[in-house]
Amino acid sequence: MKITFLGAARTVTGSKHLVQTEGYNLLLDCGFYQGDKKESDRLNRELPFRAEDIDAVILTHAHLDHCGTLPVLVKQGFKGRIYCTPATAEIARLILLNSASIQKTDSDYYNAHVSGREPVAPIYTAEDVEKAVKHFEAVPYSNPGNVWKTINANIRFKFYEAGHILGSAAVLLEIKEKGSVKNVAYSGDLGRADLPILRSPEFIQESVSTLLMECTYGSRIHRPVEVVCDELKDIINEAVKTKSRIIVPAFSLGRIQELIYVLHNLSRKKSIPALPIYVDSPLADEITRVFTRYTDYFDEQFWNDFGNDGDSPFSFVNLINVRSVEESKALNNQNIPFMVIAASGMCEGGRILHHLKRNIGDPNNIILITGFQAENTLGRRILEGVSPIKIYGNFYDVRAKVIALNELSAHADQKDLLEYAGKTEGLKNLVLVHNELPQAAAFKKIAEAAYPQLSISIPELGQSIEI
Ligand SMILES: [Zn+2]
Repeated sequence: MKITFLGAARTVTGSKHLVQTEGYNLLLDCGFYQGDKKESDRLNRELPFRAEDIDAVILTHAHLDHCGTLPVLVKQGFKGRIYCTPATAEIARLILLNSASIQKTDSDYYNAHVSGREPVAPIYTAEDVEKAVKHFEAVPYSNPGNVWKTINANIRFKFYEAGHILGSAAVLLEIKEKGSVKNVAYSGDLGRADLPILRSPEFIQESVSTLLMECTYGSRIHRPVEVVCDELKDIINEAVKTKSRIIVPAFSLGRIQELIYVLHNLSRKKSIPALPIYVDSPLADEITRVFTRYTDYFDEQFWNDFGNDGDSPFSFVNLINVRSVEESKALNNQNIPFMVIAASGMCEGGRILHHLKRNIGDPNNIILITGFQAENTLGRRILEGVSPIKIYGNFYDVRAKVIALNELSAHADQKDLLEYAGKTEGLKNLVLVHNELPQAAAFKKIAEAAYPQLSISIPELGQSIEI
């Protein structure tokens, strides 16, 4: 069996790992590259394999960097099935349609403003997305029942809760090859035990010889989520006193629902004043509706907080969903402190940009970063203190206070990753994917000391391993 790392190898975007065994080509995730625009565009249009050579895809979760090039795959001739959990199937469709809509806006803007060059077409359209999602086959988590999903006579798999976003799964593959059976697991992206709403990541209950594990935060230890709740409470109370605006770039999928949940809890306990909190993301609103259909995926804490009183965790009195672009722009004309939560989470597009434009120059305001910011994104530049920053061709000085609350990260930290690898029975090869090299190198050193019996590697893009 050969595994080739065709994305998310020493980087955190474009997840694609190709498992090849006796004439069968199984792709694990088919993610979009995000970051440097020109390079990402090229990588997203030109897949690193022939689409018709791929027999099936297993999709771990609905983040764009894991599912984003599925419409390209189908457009270029893929005929097989795309296996994922039922919630992932629903959310991935929304995420892909949103991506198609952003691509259309970007290409229309480019074609209208850049003359004398070839017009550009979106990488895929909404129609391409609808064709791609017809290939989805929903497979539930393996427990309860511990059932395998059979792909063919030699390959079967199970999904385990990854606790990263709603519907996220780690996958255990059992592959028969030349008379022997090999178990290979892929973590997808791993979450954390104490994240709001979601269940904790589940350890794989079978012996696994090779584990492909994400390592986004391989050198970092997150503080507990409760600390973040306290900090959020202090930031809001202070902002009301100083009449500040709090601008929160956040991912529509996962982070916005978690923030609503945490803010609702703070509001119920009267720990924060009745500050208007605007959620300015129609996509988040649609995703929140999917959440309400999958309450059986929620953790015990959720049921303790909201299970009995019939209160919806995703709405409360000072929370206002903003729908139209006009309403969104009008928010900044009012003269009162408020919080606005908008996408995109890395400030690469979407409504957050006009909130940043209007508010980032005022030292009284706060930019609250709540998630991972990849290299070459505007969010990363803001986090690293770059000033001025460029938005829609104009420069803006960064005078607002920038605060990072990394603890709401949906990714496991070093301690969680060490535990996950350590609790994977029979493990021989640990392969670190989905990381920036310094994070992975630091983790490798710690993991080698903790588990000297393991062979640990950090593959480069395009590198293959034989098992
Ligand atoms: Zn993810």
